[in-house]
Amino acid sequence: MIETSRRNFVLGLSALAVFPLQRAEPDLILYNGNFWTVDAKNPKARAVAISGGRFLAVGSNEEVLRLAAGGSRKIDLGMKTVTPGFIDAHTHPAMSGRLHLRRVDCDLRSIAAIQGALRERAAKTPPGDWVLGFKYDDTKTSEGRALNVKDLDDAVPDHPVSINHRGGHMDFVNTMAYKVAGVDKNTPDPSGGIFERDSSGQFTGRIIERAQGTFEKVIPNIFTRDDYREGVKLISKMMTKTGITSVGDALGSPEDLQAYQDARDSGDLPMRVYCFIAWNYIDRMIAAGVRTGLGDEWVRVGGMKQIADGAVSGRTARLSQPYIGHPNDYGTFSATEEELYEYGRKAYAAGWQLGTHANGDVAIERVLGVYERLNREIPRRDPRFRIEHCTLINDSIIQRMRALSVIPLPFSTYVYYHGEKMQYYGEERLKHMFALRTFLDAGLRPTQASDYPPGEFPAMMALHSEVTRTDLHGHVWGANQRVTLEEAIRIGTINGAYASYEENLKGSIQPGKLADLVVLGRDPFKEDPSTLVSIPVERTMTGGKWVYES
Ligand SMILES: [Zn+2]
Repeated sequence: MIETSRRNFVLGLSALAVFPLQRAEPDLILYNGNFWTVDAKNPKARAVAISGGRFLAVGSNEEVLRLAAGGSRKIDLGMKTVTPGFIDAHTHPAMSGRLHLRRVDCDLRSIAAIQGALRERAAKTPPGDWVLGFKYDDTKTSEGRALNVKDLDDAVPDHPVSINHRGGHMDFVNTMAYKVAGVDKNTPDPSGGIFERDSSGQFTGRIIERAQGTFEKVIPNIFTRDDYREGVKLISKMMTKTGITSVGDALGSPEDLQAYQDARDSGDLPMRVYCFIAWNYIDRMIAAGVRTGLGDEWVRVGGMKQIADGAVSGRTARLSQPYIGHPNDYGTFSATEEELYEYGRKAYAAGWQLGTHANGDVAIERVLGVYERLNREIPRRDPRFRIEHCTLINDSIIQRMRALSVIPLPFSTYVYYHGEKMQYYGEERLKHMFALRTFLDAGLRPTQASDYPPGEFPAMMALHSEVTRTDLHGHVWGANQRVTLEEAIRIGTINGAYASYEENLKGSIQPGKLADLVVLGRDPFKEDPSTLVSIPVERTMTGGKWVYES
């Protein structure tokens, strides 16, 4: 506090040159560390001085310890490795926090185990109230088939049930849920969505894309404003524990934005948030005069988010060639080019950055078409168009992305964690998926992006997956897209900062930048890549404060 007011005082006198920040007293000095700074001019350091939540100095032990004053705390790091805090540039923190508060975690290894968990929850739920689950993954259950309406009816006959798939783009419901939602045999599929039916016309229980809305509408939103804040608090703890100090919320609502602010005000926000606003709320935001960048270093309004196609883990991404073993299945679009353009134009003209979810090559081409058109119609100096996921690419996509310097946000942990889904895409196609090597070689700036809940978020798992391209079972997918450890760390730090226009504020350990860092239990540069995922995060610091200590 003292530092801030002094700095303001100094700035008020326009005397910054006379009293540079470096003259301030450090609150804290970390020394005897193995710092990987991600600062090209000063890549390695032994010590940092921190004041008012920012790095004051970065250098050798002698240089930095010399700055110590009476009130400076000093911590000997015992030569532990330190990196900048990791930035998960596309994830769903507020939403997943609330899901953890309310829903059954269905990340279980058999349908029987899921039924058991649902039964248990139903026993504690008043009859007629919804029993809800999330993180169900049809490729990770031992039965080798998808959950169906009968499984759910058997487990929970007296409550409506809806289980969200890990990929988010489909739900699995029971018979009572269809009744509550008013969906019957004669209900047509909505545009952009499917109530899946079997060959005899019976509902299977699977609800795809925009058809999910029919059920979402009738599930009461029981979350209070306190619950919203609690959800943020819970997920922030989970994430900072794994080395994450900043996130991009990829599909926020005004209520989410409020939840992040509430958590910050109550001291429960240990990570920074760049909050994208979903297209369906954009009118409210524009009417209020809000645009990208409003906020501060803790909670900032991000871009506008739209969705062009389905999910990789749910195998609904819109591809030019069909899924392996499903010759007629090319995935699904979630919006027309005109819809993407209309919302995109409105937001872009009002000063918003745009981020559009596109996994399949055909969907990416559609989004690029919209971005190219907007760039012609409304030229802007530094648009930083984002393609969220940008999973399956080809040469022409890369050329078009280069021309506009589009930012790709590919899944960081999918190869490692979701290896069993890769067979649906096939070895050949994997050479062009999550294409970090290609993006870097083209001069683009890909980020780290978990997309949690669909993907896992631990920062070390992201490094592991990106460096090894090896899944949990030891299978290598698309080895040509491997990046070096140094590149993976840049992707997870400075590139994430760039994706939110904050590269001068964070993403590296440099004087003047926010003091966000991670202390690791082992040095990843001395590690066999096959064990990167097991490196423990010992401490996480955001804004000069330890927010996690093991
Ligand atoms: Zn997402």
